[in-house]
Amino acid sequence: MTNPLLETTPLTDFAAVRPEHVTPAIDVLLAEANAALDRAVGPDVPADYDALSLVLEVPVERLGRAWGVVNHLAHVADTPELRAVHAENLPKITEFYTRQGSDERLYAKYKAIAASPAAAALSPARRQALAHALRDFRLGGADLQGEAKARFMALQDRMAELSQAFSNHVLDATDAFAHYATAEELDGVPADVVAAARAAAEAEGKPGHKLTLHFPSYFPVMQYARNRALRETLYTAYVTRASELGPAERDNTAVMSELLTLRAEEATLLGFANAAEVSLAPKMAGTPAEVLHFLRDLAQRARPSAEKDLADLRDFAARELGLTDLQAWDLAYAGEKLKEARYAFSDQEVKAYLPLPKVLDGLFHIAETLFEVRIQPAEAPVWHPSVRFFRIERAGQVVGEFYLDPHARPGKRPGAWMDSARSRWLRADSHQLQTPVAYLVCNFSSPVGDKPALLTHDEVTTLFHEFGHGLHHMLTQVDEMGVSGIDGVEWDAVELPSQFMENFCWEWEVIRHLSAHVDSGEPLPRALFDKMLAAKNFQSGLQTLRQVEFGLFDMRLHTEADAPQRVQAILNEVRQEVSLLPVPAFNRMAHTFSHIFAGGYSAGYYSYKWAEVLSADAWSAFEEEGVLNPDTGRRYRCEILEAGGARPAIESFKAFRGREPSIDALLRHQGMA
Ligand SMILES: [Zn+2]
Repeated sequence: MTNPLLETTPLTDFAAVRPEHVTPAIDVLLAEANAALDRAVGPDVPADYDALSLVLEVPVERLGRAWGVVNHLAHVADTPELRAVHAENLPKITEFYTRQGSDERLYAKYKAIAASPAAAALSPARRQALAHALRDFRLGGADLQGEAKARFMALQDRMAELSQAFSNHVLDATDAFAHYATAEELDGVPADVVAAARAAAEAEGKPGHKLTLHFPSYFPVMQYARNRALRETLYTAYVTRASELGPAERDNTAVMSELLTLRAEEATLLGFANAAEVSLAPKMAGTPAEVLHFLRDLAQRARPSAEKDLADLRDFAARELGLTDLQAWDLAYAGEKLKEARYAFSDQEVKAYLPLPKVLDGLFHIAETLFEVRIQPAEAPVWHPSVRFFRIERAGQVVGEFYLDPHARPGKRPGAWMDSARSRWLRADSHQLQTPVAYLVCNFSSPVGDKPALLTHDEVTTLFHEFGHGLHHMLTQVDEMGVSGIDGVEWDAVELPSQFMENFCWEWEVIRHLSAHVDSGEPLPRALFDKMLAAKNFQSGLQTLRQVEFGLFDMRLHTEADAPQRVQAILNEVRQEVSLLPVPAFNRMAHTFSHIFAGGYSAGYYSYKWAEVLSADAWSAFEEEGVLNPDTGRRYRCEILEAGGARPAIESFKAFRGREPSIDALLRHQGMA
C-alpha cells in the first residue's frame, strides 16, 4: 500500500492524503528521525557540518514536512477523523523535538564543530545556523549541571503551570460576569448584537438581554450604547477581572508575582542580569535599555498628536454628546461617534471596487515589477477545488511556488496566515537545490453566482501582508537549512516584509490600478480613498501611547529587581509617565495582560511597534525613490528578502537603507509628523 505522506515527490499529493495514512507515516518517519539522532551523536559521525547535516537534517526535514502537511490539513480541511489522528500524533512529535533540543550529546557535537579548525572556513550562513543552534541549547539550559540543571527544569514546569493558571483565571473571571439588560438600556447598540444578547438570555430561560465580558458582547456595548451607566457597569467589571477586587480563587496577583520571581531566577541561572535580557538574546533589539529608550522616544514624539486627539475628542464629546467630564467608559463610545461624524463611508461601498481577481493581478504586477519575477498559475494536487497553485520564476528558473487558499469554508480555521510547506535548501543528500513552497491562507467570502469574490480594504491589506511573508520565504537565496527564508529571522524583525507590503494598499497610484467596480469597472473614486486614508490615522497618537504604555510596563516588569512586589505600582508609574487618558484607580489591566503572563510576549510586547518602525522606514525608501522603482525593488529584494535569517536583521536593514532605522517614517505615515 502506498502512503502519500511517505512519497518523495517534490509536491504532496494532497488529493490522496487520508486520515488513515497519518499514524503509519509518522511512525515510520519518527523511527527514522530517532535512529538518526542516536547515530548523529555517536562516535561514527565526525564533528563536521556536512556529515551531521547528512545524517540528521535529512530525516528530520522529511519528518517535519510530512507533519507540516498533517498540520496544514488540520487547519484548512478539518474532519473529526483527521482531528483525532492529529491529536494522537502531536505528543509523539513534540516529544521528539524536545528530545532533540535538549540532547547534551548533540550540543557537544555542535560545540565540537564550532571549535574545529574547519569552522573558520564555513560559509557565513552556516556559521549563523551553527550560532543559532548553540544559542538555543544554552537558552534551554544545556550548559547547566547538577542542582542548577534540576532547578532549571523545575522552573520550566512551575512557570508553565503559572501561565496556565493565569489564563484560566482570566477566562473564569470573564465567564463569571453577566448583566441582563432591558431593551431600553441597549439603545444605540447594533441590532445583531442585541439579537445575540437576547438569544443568549433566552437559552437560559431568562428575560432581557445577556451581556458578557467576551469581546463580541463587551466591545460593541462600549462602542455604541448610549446608556452611560451601562457602559460604566461593564467597564468596571471588565477592568477588575482576575484581580484582588474580585473573588480570591481567581485573583492573579500572586501568580504574576511568582512568575516574575521565577523568570528572574531562570535568568540568573542562565547567566543573565534579568528576564528581559533572556528574552532579547534571540531578538533584534540589543538590550533592555535600548528598548526602553526606543519606547520613550516614540512616546515623546507621539505625544503632541495624542494631545490633539484627546482635545478633539473632549471637545466633540462635550459639544455633541453632552459628556463634559469624559471618563474611561466614554472613550470608545465618543471615539466611535467622532469617527462616524468625520469619515462616514461604509466597508460595503469600498468592497464593490475590490474584486479578488483584479486585486491578485495588481499584487502580482507589483511583485513582478519590483522583484524581477514572473508569477504564473501552475498545476499541483490541492486539498479543495478553490485552492490555486502558482509558480514564481526568474530568468526562466523556478525560484519558489505557493498555494493560495483564499476562501472561508466549514472545517477551515479562521484568520489568515503564511506557512512553509518546504524551505530552500541545498540538500545534504542529493546536493540538489530544493526550492521553497509556501501556503498562503485567507478567509475571504466566496464568489456568489457569476460575480467575482469582493474584498474589503482590510482584506486586501491582509492578502498583501501574508504575501509579504510569502515573498520573504520564497525569494530567499540562502541555501542553508534553518536560516533560509523566514527561518531563523529574529522574532521582532520577521514582520518587516509583511507589514512592508501593506503600504501598497494605502498608495493611490497602486489602489487606482487594482480597483475596478464589480459592475461598472470604474476605479475607486479618489474622494472615497482620501476618506479611508484619513480614517486610517484616526487617534493614531492615542493608540501609539497605549502601545507604548503596554511595552514600557512589560519591559520594566522584566528588568527591575523589585518588580514582583511592585506590579501595580510600576503600572501606575508608567501611566503617569506616558498616558494622557483618564484611568480610574480600580483599573487592574495587569491582571489580564495574557500576552506577557500567559503568552510568548514577555519582554517582547515592544516588538509590535519595533517591527512597524522597520517596515515604515523601509517603505520610506520607496517613497523617496518611487513606489514602483525597480532599482529600489532590487536592493530591497537582495538585502532584505533574499538574505533570510543568514545574517542579523539589523545588518540586512542597514544594507538596504544605508543607515540605522529611524522612527520618523512611522510617525509620518500615521499622520503624527
Ligand atoms: Zn504577519
